[in-house]
Amino acid sequence: MRKYENMKKQTVLVVDDSSTIRTIIARELESAGYEVIAAENGMEALAMIEWMTDLPEIITLDIDMPVMGGFEVCERLRAGRTSSIPRKQQAAEVPIIFVSANDNLENRERGYQLEVIDFISKPFSPGDITQAIDRVLNPKEQYTGMRALVVDDSASVRRIIQNNLIRSGVEVVEAADGREALDIVERQNGCFDIVIIDNLMPTMNGDELCRHLKKIPTMTQVPKFFISSLNDKESILAFFRAGASDYLKKPFIAEELHVRIETHLRVRKYVKELEVLNKKLEEQASHDGLTGLYNRRYFQEATERIFSQAERYNQELSCIMLDLDYFKKVNDTHGHAFGDLVLKGFAKLIENRCRKSDIVARYGGEEFILFLPNTGADGAVYLAESIREKAEKECYSDGKTKLHVTCSIGVSSMLLGKVEKPEDLMTQADEALYRAKERGRNRVEISGREETIRFVKMGKSLKVKE
Ligand code: GH3
Ligand code: MG
Ligand code: MG
Repeated sequence: MRKYENMKKQTVLVVDDSSTIRTIIARELESAGYEVIAAENGMEALAMIEWMTDLPEIITLDIDMPVMGGFEVCERLRAGRTSSIPRKQQAAEVPIIFVSANDNLENRERGYQLEVIDFISKPFSPGDITQAIDRVLNPKEQYTGMRALVVDDSASVRRIIQNNLIRSGVEVVEAADGREALDIVERQNGCFDIVIIDNLMPTMNGDELCRHLKKIPTMTQVPKFFISSLNDKESILAFFRAGASDYLKKPFIAEELHVRIETHLRVRKYVKELEVLNKKLEEQASHDGLTGLYNRRYFQEATERIFSQAERYNQELSCIMLDLDYFKKVNDTHGHAFGDLVLKGFAKLIENRCRKSDIVARYGGEEFILFLPNTGADGAVYLAESIREKAEKECYSDGKTKLHVTCSIGVSSMLLGKVEKPEDLMTQADEALYRAKERGRNRVEISGREETIRFVKMGKSLKVKE
């Protein structure tokens, strides 16, 4: 972003008592496209912040300086949060990076309390400062679309973590304790890619939350990152026993949090991509590419399962086989593409008339097959006839050509004939279909002659032809 010439440059306020350091940092940042202003101690920095027309986008701050050191600058700026002057409130939120030789644990902890977002030790290497500033002001949003749930009872820790995640393009949802986090997960169907969990919280602690999350199917694979002030062996073990994927001690350095979270997100992103790919492969293996219906292979697998279930529970089961009439002529006259359009439209027409539990498959070129659990002969013939009727009326069109295409249908049912295996039902439906073709097409035939008669006798408002 900063590379665009005509855009207003982002301003960095560099505060350091060494003129050499100020020059090195300024040169590096200016060549990276930033505007740099410099101050040689804290007092001068605060005066600049007060009088500048626009606030700087970020401040790099030395700790040990004459007149006023880095910590005092931080404290004074942050104190602006409670001020009634809008300018002071805005200045309180400007991100700060420490650049200091005095990199010890105590200073890091103090910086952490003051929400300093990064700590660069002197001597630093070329590129270090630009990189740190880029991460804040011009992040590569490589995790856009991913979502994090941040669970911590401290609003300021939540803010630090949130700032960190936003840098990677992650959307953040906050919760103040375990209970609230669980509610959010339930309401939002567990659509998170990482959960960052504080351990000690009112209402529900982190480890208890983690145990709950593990049991929610959409959350079992989601990384659970613990952040806690406890760092005795027992506590850390307890986190991992509860299902933690990682652990970081408070106070932490923003940079460590950042790289650790990125590691988890990278793996998570990869896993999600694999899941999508797997689904697609599964879909391709079981579905017909043209119509989206199940393919023959899946149909055969499914019928085994459905057949044995029907036998076990003594349920009815029927099969319908359909074949488009004179379809070769459709292709020959109007072209293969139009033939495809008819096949797709016919598939939709069948699907719209079936129940969710029915198995609808494309069996071959212009041949379709249905397996209807819990459906007897009457129900199957009723469905077959309604498909036949609808198909007869359906007008297929590509904008130029308009065409009606009829179909012939064969029906078989568990109680009508000798059915010992799923293939028997399919063979019988196929025989009935053959008869429908023989007897003139655009009609429904039922396997087992007697049953045809019985059905006609029932006098339903169906036009079953003789
Ligand atoms: P009948 O009434 O006896 O069923 O005659 P028919 O012409 O429909 O039957 P036939 O089996 O002789 O021809 C089926 C045609 O279906 C031949 C083939 O080119 C066409 N076909 C098969 N698969 C596809 C496909 O995916 N797309 C298109 N457009 N046509 C297909
Ligand atoms: Mg045909
Ligand atoms: Mg055919």
